[in-house]
Amino acid sequence: MICLGIEGTAHSICVGIVKEKNNRCIVLSNIIKIYKPEKGGIHPREAANHHATYIADLIKDSFKQSGVDTGDVDLVSFSKGPGLGPCLRTAATAARALSLTINKPILGVNHCVAHLEIGRGTLKDCIDPVLLYTSGANTQVIAFAEGRYRVFGETLDVGIGNCLDKFGRIANLSFPCGPKIEQLALNAKKYIDLPYSIKGMDIAFSGLLTAAETFYKKGEKLEDICFSIQETAFAALTEITERAMAHTEKKQVLLAGGVAANKRLCNMVNTMAKEREASFFVPEKTLCIDNGAMIAWLGVLMYNNGVRMKVENSFINQRFRTDMVDVTWRD
Ligand code: AMP
Ligand code: MG
Repeated sequence: MICLGIEGTAHSICVGIVKEKNNRCIVLSNIIKIYKPEKGGIHPREAANHHATYIADLIKDSFKQSGVDTGDVDLVSFSKGPGLGPCLRTAATAARALSLTINKPILGVNHCVAHLEIGRGTLKDCIDPVLLYTSGANTQVIAFAEGRYRVFGETLDVGIGNCLDKFGRIANLSFPCGPKIEQLALNAKKYIDLPYSIKGMDIAFSGLLTAAETFYKKGEKLEDICFSIQETAFAALTEITERAMAHTEKKQVLLAGGVAANKRLCNMVNTMAKEREASFFVPEKTLCIDNGAMIAWLGVLMYNNGVRMKVENSFINQRFRTDMVDVTWRD
């Protein structure tokens, strides 16, 4: 089975084509186009205009890169949510147009579940992981339990990526700020104590952000603050992930989302996994960040397990939560 997936929840518009073979995911093409605001955060309408400008070319390029003919596609899937309304609607509209043009079925899928399933579908031996999903807007610890992907812990305010980007904006770093903070942290000389907020298995970053801003304005060295933000926030993320692993008795941990590109975060979670005699997985970068291949792969799993959607019912859902999805494709 071959599926073309369109991702458009936030800053990226992406098209991926995947093929299913022996229950494994083979990525045939995966094109990612990122909208970068000149200043400030993402303006939903401007991001959506960006997506509308490029989507048709991305679809064409995807077919070219994969060598797949339009007639070979069995399914078109798209990110139904969660995300920014105008962006989601643009991606869904493109998916509907394509589905009607090539006369193939359509399926809207959950973005967060797709991040987890692409890890299981492409990484050898990644079977039943606890997912630490760390992106710009989303920060969640997700695991499979009793027929659904349950959210065991999540941020109560901003996502970890947004936290890094907000601090970066204060310190005049250019977007995306996460990679710059990672580089600056390498030259730190000391750790500065920052608020460490864990509430049960949930987490919060706004106190840390305010404190970091205060230290920056007081003239503490930027390198030291970057280092301290990473050490504090990533330790808290690792702690709630470990709690979920202990609670669910799972022996695998998977990272996803843009912040998973951070070596220090990978290193901390990997160390925790080793200490628990668990295995650690992180997909290659293009499958870790927002991408169309993961949307296509979740479409395959759902379609092969009997899920169907009519074009007239292919709505988006800005608040489509991870645990709303009935996971029919797993025992
Ligand atoms: P996503 O929303 O999943 O596409 O991820 C985007 C977020 O990842 C942005 O907030 C970036 O600042 C962040 N990011 C990307 N690379 C890194 C990195 N190396 N370290 C920390 N954050 C990163
Ligand atoms: Mg994402």
